[in-house]
Amino acid sequence: MAKDGESGDVLGELLRSVFGFARFRANQEAVCRAAMAGRDLLLVMPTGAGKSLCYQLPAIALGGTALVISPLIALMDDQAAKLTARGLRVARIHSGLDRGVARQACVDYLQGTLQFLFIAPERLRVPGFPEMLAKRRPGLIAIDEAHCISQWGHDFRPDYRMLGRYLPALRAGADPVPVLALTATATPAVQADILAQLGMVKPVKFIHGFRRENLAIEVAEVPMPERAGAISSLLADPSRRPAIVYATSRKQSESLAAELYSTASGHRIRAAAYHAGLNSEIRERVQTAFQAGELEVVVATIAFGMGIDKADIRTVIHAGLPATLEGYYQEIGRAGRDGAPSRTYLMHSYADQRTHDFFLNRDYPPADHLHQVFKALAEEPQPVDELRAASKLGEEEFDKALEKLEIHGGARVDFGGNVTVGGPGWKKTYEVQAQFRAEQIEKVLRYTTSTDCRMASLVKHFGDMADGSRPCGLCDVCDPAGAVLRLFRRATPSERDIVQAIADDLRGVDSKATGTLQRNLELVGRLSRNEFEALLDAMVRAGLTEIEEAEFEKAGELIRFRKVRLTAAGLDLRAKTPIELLISDGMVEEFGRRGPAPVRRKKSKSKSNPVAAKTAAKITPSIAAPARILEVKTIEAVPVQLSTVGEAVAARLKEWRAAEAKRLRVPAYVVMHDRTLTAVAHARPANPKQLLEIDGMGPAKVEKFGEVILGLCAARG
Ligand code: ADP
Ligand code: MG
Repeated sequence: MAKDGESGDVLGELLRSVFGFARFRANQEAVCRAAMAGRDLLLVMPTGAGKSLCYQLPAIALGGTALVISPLIALMDDQAAKLTARGLRVARIHSGLDRGVARQACVDYLQGTLQFLFIAPERLRVPGFPEMLAKRRPGLIAIDEAHCISQWGHDFRPDYRMLGRYLPALRAGADPVPVLALTATATPAVQADILAQLGMVKPVKFIHGFRRENLAIEVAEVPMPERAGAISSLLADPSRRPAIVYATSRKQSESLAAELYSTASGHRIRAAAYHAGLNSEIRERVQTAFQAGELEVVVATIAFGMGIDKADIRTVIHAGLPATLEGYYQEIGRAGRDGAPSRTYLMHSYADQRTHDFFLNRDYPPADHLHQVFKALAEEPQPVDELRAASKLGEEEFDKALEKLEIHGGARVDFGGNVTVGGPGWKKTYEVQAQFRAEQIEKVLRYTTSTDCRMASLVKHFGDMADGSRPCGLCDVCDPAGAVLRLFRRATPSERDIVQAIADDLRGVDSKATGTLQRNLELVGRLSRNEFEALLDAMVRAGLTEIEEAEFEKAGELIRFRKVRLTAAGLDLRAKTPIELLISDGMVEEFGRRGPAPVRRKKSKSKSNPVAAKTAAKITPSIAAPARILEVKTIEAVPVQLSTVGEAVAARLKEWRAAEAKRLRVPAYVVMHDRTLTAVAHARPANPKQLLEIDGMGPAKVEKFGEVILGLCAARG
């Protein structure tokens, strides 16, 4: 084996002569060196980062045959073809090849003439195959897509589990053969599982490259009905194209594509839908047209972009909540491969959460459903139809429960439609899996509501703790003033109280004029007309009220007004009812093309848009009931009179904030908004729970700064 000093040169030389690459990409050389030194290693880098080279180069340098385990035939064929084209001796063994080829591969392997042997994991189940492999000592063993080994990973492959059993025999020796596990997605739990399953010895972990310096990530709450308009406005700007939009349903993908393509909004964008309901020929055509630049936007529901090698994608939009952070990261990662600034937008709302809950319940029914079916099973085959008819469960519930039982070994269904009882072990694996799915969604939700830098959160999610503490400076958390899509914000507790009061006031009557309602509630002094209208608007959006335009004549003059009335949901509203109450919070500038010119709320003095500010000034609160509320100030924005003690606390908080902002190298408002700071000084919370109740203090902020802030609130003098 080459000594460390030399191995760099050997590796560099091979990089150029065999692969024709001028230089290593980030981290490749360090990984190759560790492999050359005989270390077991786990390599986690994003797709496209160049992981294959990290096992291929040391394999060639070390000599002997490298065994490569790969879960996908297509992937294996692709890698093998590339290596063969570079003049290397390569063979494959998988179910897609005929026997003669596989037999020849075995012969070549045993004679030691191969540099690479690719095998599919299920081959290990073939009697005699692992023993055949163990007759020779490979130069190294690479396990591609290693996350498949973990049941915590998203593509769990039971066959991968067997690797752990066979590896010891394959790598045995005084100097064990190095094992390299490679994957693009492994959360810390999955990483630990891979290391344990493969029985890696003092492994080195390389987890790199998840940070994307040119992506500005935005996450915003946008009610469902507003999304199409927002997307259309965003993409009207040609500098935001080419773009991929990830839709949540086939229907949404078609309607969005149609809307973008229609000229109704004053522009026509060459857009097309892409989903599983389209035949493969159409999908292929969409893909090719997008690649060639003939299409500018693709609205997709499924893994669109996998086969795409398009570097200049400027925008990726998620029109709904993604199911996993892994999937989300892959998808936004398709933007800006050329390194030029690109933006990604994730639109979500409470409604998405309900959809996910619905799918989760449908796909993972309660374990006692499974138990009910399991109890009815016997060694004697019984017709499924009879069991279903006798079951207390609904038809679909029964079928789902039986399907899950079968997957987890609790039932066996034969081709004749008869079912027999299986083993009792189903419960444990089923519950683990259901729990895992629920947690994945939980993580996406936490990400959307977090007050941490978006990029840093993702980098940390993939296990790179070292790089996960630096804020990106670009996302909607780091640079709220630069955010394009800040359409709505959640109602504050006091706004919710007012909404409750409005509902209570309306409960006894059929309908009320909005002006009367505002006067009745004595809100005039507390809320501006605009703020009041914004709340009404939010109530309509949440389905609590309906608004009707009306008019009457007075002294020959037609006077228009609006009547508001509770819906059934509004009648039911109670203080604790979980409703989605989103307040309009400024909009994308060009949103105006479709309706009244909206205005972005002023977020920070330095960065506010002078044009937007001017437009804002022109809007007077008295204009006849705008269909949309154009500008909404938060209720908390009303200046609070601080007591002397409060003033002292505020001064301490400001001093701390300045130091913290300097330390983190972020603007002060990223640490804490003025509004929040004043509210904290005013409330002087005594514990984390009270602190959390203050608007602008999310769980992440409380966790990070809570202790210090509470200390500053409690200090005297
Ligand atoms: P991964 O497995 O990490 O998704 P691959 O190993 O398939 O990525 O590599 C992605 C692409 O990058 C391949 O086309 C590969 O040839 C190319 N590549 C890898 N390393 C280099 C390098 N040092 N210089 C130039 N291209 C490289
Ligand atoms: Mg790969």
